[in-house]
Amino acid sequence: GEVRSVAVHARAIAPRLVLLVLHDVTEQERLAKMRRDFIANTSHELKTPAGAVSLLGEAIESAADDPAEVRGFARRLRAEAERLGALTTRIMTLSQLEADEPLAMREVPVDELVTGAIEAHAAQADAARVQIVRGGETGAQLYGDPRLLSEALGNLIANAIAYSSPATHVGVGVKTVGGVVEISVTDQGIGIAEDDQERIFERFYRADRARSRRTGGTGLGLAIVKHAVQRHGGEVRLWSRPGQGSTFTIRLPQAVRDAADEAALRHPT
Ligand code: ADP
Repeated sequence: GEVRSVAVHARAIAPRLVLLVLHDVTEQERLAKMRRDFIANTSHELKTPAGAVSLLGEAIESAADDPAEVRGFARRLRAEAERLGALTTRIMTLSQLEADEPLAMREVPVDELVTGAIEAHAAQADAARVQIVRGGETGAQLYGDPRLLSEALGNLIANAIAYSSPATHVGVGVKTVGGVVEISVTDQGIGIAEDDQERIFERFYRADRARSRRTGGTGLGLAIVKHAVQRHGGEVRLWSRPGQGSTFTIRLPQAVRDAADEAALRHPT
């Protein structure tokens, strides 16, 4: 393409420039490969629920005489359709993050973020008989994109519930340390083996495929968490021990208002 012909032309002029341009070609090829892999993996992941929806549709057609059977198939069909929807939303979020679209940054009350994310998962927690407990500080403020952050926090809460046993707790805590707001999600679930702890943040990586599929996982939740938090200049930390549980902590810059901001707030122009 274009870059290559520039490289050929440049070779005659300056060897250093050639190196630079070639390096750029390699980087572009690497990015192009990443994109191709992502599309291939994504298509594969979408085909599974799509195939299930179609099979369940057929099953409903042929079971039309037995209402109980029809209801059973319909329930499974709905679950697969929801999975398809969730997967699509996550793919959209990831590609937005990838495209480096500007974030809608503003001051975010952490209590609202946390309460909203907990409420959005109340039904999932009830169904799993897991109790969500809110702890730590109140009144913290951070600076970020509220939609993205609530999706990230929601993914952590959803995982904490999904990988827990009935009658256990999921804790959501807030702490401010030296200009950093830490939001942690702790579960008493299955935990994560040390070898998997870094890899689970990769797209489509699942530590336990069988269980993840049963829990309707997409393998994209933590990739979104990591990416979203990094875009905010923050980081994700993980502590986990198999059989004991896990704590995921997202660390984000605290919103600090300076005197000028305060004045502007008191006297809006
Ligand atoms: P999934 O949709 O499969 O949960 P994620 O990207 O959210 O995808 O998580 C990747 C993998 O990390 C999961 O499949 C699971 O193996 C592991 N995992 C994530 N959160 C937890 C947790 N709280 N406890 C145990 N394992 C977890």
